[in-house]
Amino acid sequence: MKNEKFDLNQLLKDKKKVALGGHVRPDGDCIGSVMGLYHYLKQEYPEIQTDVYLEKIPEAFRLIKGTDEVYSELRDEETLYDLFLCLDCGDPMRLGFSRPLFENAKESVCIDHHISNEAFADLNYIVPDASSTSELVVTLLDEERIPQESAEALYMGIVHDTGVFRYSCTSPETMENAAKLMRKGINGNEIIEKTFYEKTYVQNQILGRALLESMLIMDRKCIVSVIRKNSMEFFHAEPSDLEGIVSVLRQTKGVEVAIFLHEIEPHKYKVSMRSKDLIDVSVIAKHFGGGGHVRAAGVTMAGSAHDVINNITEQIARQFEVLEQKEKNSMVQEFGKE
Ligand code: AMP
Ligand code: MN
Ligand code: MN
Repeated sequence: MKNEKFDLNQLLKDKKKVALGGHVRPDGDCIGSVMGLYHYLKQEYPEIQTDVYLEKIPEAFRLIKGTDEVYSELRDEETLYDLFLCLDCGDPMRLGFSRPLFENAKESVCIDHHISNEAFADLNYIVPDASSTSELVVTLLDEERIPQESAEALYMGIVHDTGVFRYSCTSPETMENAAKLMRKGINGNEIIEKTFYEKTYVQNQILGRALLESMLIMDRKCIVSVIRKNSMEFFHAEPSDLEGIVSVLRQTKGVEVAIFLHEIEPHKYKVSMRSKDLIDVSVIAKHFGGGGHVRAAGVTMAGSAHDVINNITEQIARQFEVLEQKEKNSMVQEFGKE
């Protein structure tokens, strides 16, 4: 399948009905990229019917305009679209409830930055090095024509996937693209504060629990924590309240990989992994049927928490062994030169 940057005008020529969708349990980048493109399309192509399909939007993201217009379930009357634009979604299964709309659409496009993405749409614009899908959307738009609502959403997306311009995926181009959005008169500070840093009491409580019960393993190179269903019930927490916990675990000094397990049903865990400099967690997630990025990936796994952690750490250990071997080889080569 084609993987290249495309011209929006060309793509939308003769289209009457367009749908936008993103991955299950939508995060800041997913919501930001979808809503950013939605507002732009509504302004620039008012003759086209544009609908957005996303699972329930977590409360903090409701700051973004138009999130109340999003459909969170299929509508009987709308099944056939001329075009389905799939954003921030690494594989069609992760579209969740909107997948039939993608399958039935006359044409499909995927805009994404997951390294695990196998270019599953008719037309794909996948850049694994890009900080976020929101940044990719910025590069598709006419800068002069970006409305403020789009700029707010896209800025939020970039902020979230870069951890507020902190992670290694933040490039000089990321800063330049964010600057273009800032010039649209957005309140960047409020977006960062309200959608990224602000936590509810419950979110902080469950974060505290996860930190308190975390364990250092593999010679203190990995940190792991598990939140079980009974804790979720005790704190009245929703899965979206767990967002960001794995990033805090990753901040632990000396740790290379953070692993966070969330029990979704007995013997079934949603696993989030984050790494700092060495380990490619996307390969590990993919090995178990998930996906993601080199430094941030996820997968759903069956078994006891103990089994899941064992299976993952085995893969991490293998990567460490390969790295050690490489280091030894390069030392031998250096030695040979003298
Ligand atoms: P998370 O740990 O859920 O925040 O996810 C980290 C990254 O991996 C995100 O970019 C997700 O889109 C991706 N990801 C998470 N879970 C899965 C999965 N089951 N399959 C494919 N990609 C995933
Ligand atoms: Mn995402
Ligand atoms: Mn993303």
